Amino acid sequence: MEKTKFLPTRYQLLKGYLFLVGFPQDWFVSIDVTNKCNLRCKHCYFFEQDVEKELKADQWYEQLLEMKRKKTIPFLQCTWVGGEPLLRKDLIDKGRKLFKYNTIVTNGSFPIPNWRDNVNFYVSIDGDEERHDLVRNKKGLYQTIQKTIGESPVPVTVAFCINKLNHFSVETCFHEWRSHPNVKNFCVDFYTPIETLSDDLTLTMEERDAVLERLLKLKDAYPRYFAIDRSVLELMHSSRSRAVTDHCVFAKRASAFDPMGVRKEKCMLGNKADCNRCGCVVPFYMYSLTHKPTVIRNVWNKLSLK
Ligand code: SF4
Ligand code: SF4
Repeated sequence: MEKTKFLPTRYQLLKGYLFLVGFPQDWFVSIDVTNKCNLRCKHCYFFEQDVEKELKADQWYEQLLEMKRKKTIPFLQCTWVGGEPLLRKDLIDKGRKLFKYNTIVTNGSFPIPNWRDNVNFYVSIDGDEERHDLVRNKKGLYQTIQKTIGESPVPVTVAFCINKLNHFSVETCFHEWRSHPNVKNFCVDFYTPIETLSDDLTLTMEERDAVLERLLKLKDAYPRYFAIDRSVLELMHSSRSRAVTDHCVFAKRASAFDPMGVRKEKCMLGNKADCNRCGCVVPFYMYSLTHKPTVIRNVWNKLSLK
């Protein structure tokens, strides 16, 4: 039977559901699956937290099973981070099967596993070769990532964290990876200032607004490859961002677990993150799907463009 274009897609139905009822508790969770990392990046929020101890791999898995038994969380979507999550590949391979969807955010130093069914890999690339290796404090890392992505058995997303050192290389990086056969799309967020890290990495809000203008142009030119929605970028503008971050939906409706399996107070970035200048796209994305006036305005804008 011919498919009618009037039937809503699964994603449209999901959006309708979120619009009506908001984000159910803990649909999104993140897990710091290890406290170890082979890198020490300039902008790393992770090692600014108290992460001296970690659960052993079997303890982590046991805790997840216990949470599943007790229905502590709905096991819908998990973002696996750390530390470097692929240092605990075996644990994630077991843990990911408990969730419907998984995202693994890796620094690209290690081979991408051949997991196809319910996993998206985000590989962090913060600039052209020079800028990336500078931000990540590791000469030669960019070339390692080229090999990792070149040999990846599954397509990956490039994830660029924009800061004062690398913001002018966003377009270079974007185009460098755009036609790579193993890269399916490109996403960004902004460095979120951390109380104990140098503020030299933080863009002023005016600078950030100027970068957002450039990102909107990329979005318009490459709407599919640039994975962040226009409405999310618009919400990150200084004139609107506080409306989102003053009532962060992530802090209220999602959960982030530290390497000991303990729920963090706010989000994966830890307590030292400056919410007023938050650059993480997740709260903006959650807001864009649930804040009714914003959703209505986005639908209206889309209809008017047709
Ligand atoms: S790869 Fe991630 S966890 Fe490791 S040092 Fe860099 S930012 Fe921190
Ligand atoms: S840093 Fe950002 S994501 Fe984290 S609680 Fe604050 S506003 Fe939310």
